[in-house]
Amino acid sequence: MLDADFFRRWMTATAASVDREAEWLTALDSPIGDADHGSNLQRGFTAVRTALEKEAPDTPGAVLTLAGRLLISTVGGASGPLYGTLLRRTGKALGDAPEVGEDQLAEALRAGVDGVMTLGGAAPGDKTMVDALVPAVDALGGGFAAARAAAEEGAEATTPLQARKGRASYLGERSIGHQDPGATSSALLIAALVEAAE
Ligand code: ADP
Ligand code: MG
Ligand code: MG
Repeated sequence: MLDADFFRRWMTATAASVDREAEWLTALDSPIGDADHGSNLQRGFTAVRTALEKEAPDTPGAVLTLAGRLLISTVGGASGPLYGTLLRRTGKALGDAPEVGEDQLAEALRAGVDGVMTLGGAAPGDKTMVDALVPAVDALGGGFAAARAAAEEGAEATTPLQARKGRASYLGERSIGHQDPGATSSALLIAALVEAAE
């Protein structure tokens, strides 16, 4: 079973990974965006890490709703409300259970990803974070490592796509040939599940 500590470790592992990869995320966001994705997420997950140290919410749902709320208020840009919705919806779907199973997490994350698609209007293949998140949720039944592999594969598969949502879509065909920054950071988020479980 996964308790609040597991979810805190998931968020702090994501924060550490975003810190390590911030320059790369921003570099990916320069040819097809405005070169701020790494710094946007760094600001957001630093706020999440600080709040979790102070507040120590005691259920999985409370950890994720707090994190989602902070991402919405600190990240800005397109990705803030989208990541915020992902974590808030997932947290709400987990309710106030003190511990949840991996199958419950998979179901809740599905609700979170549905929230992202509703808010942003993106479907798989539009070259967004959805391209990493949907395959990850689909693979989650096979464990965290399987979800990580699916998310990484999904992020890499955005390279040949033309963007149909977000800032990169303004480039039309010129968005082809670049990996999507948000799909890349989503793969980091999913990879952090593996670290949290170690
Ligand atoms: P901004 O584009 O406002 O500078 P970021 O650079 O932080 O925001 O995030 C860009 C990422 O957000 C994109 O790489 C993409 O994955 C994601 N994104 C943008 N618009 C959408 C959308 N409508 N639906 C899903 N994801 C989106
Ligand atoms: Mg940007
Ligand atoms: Mg921006």
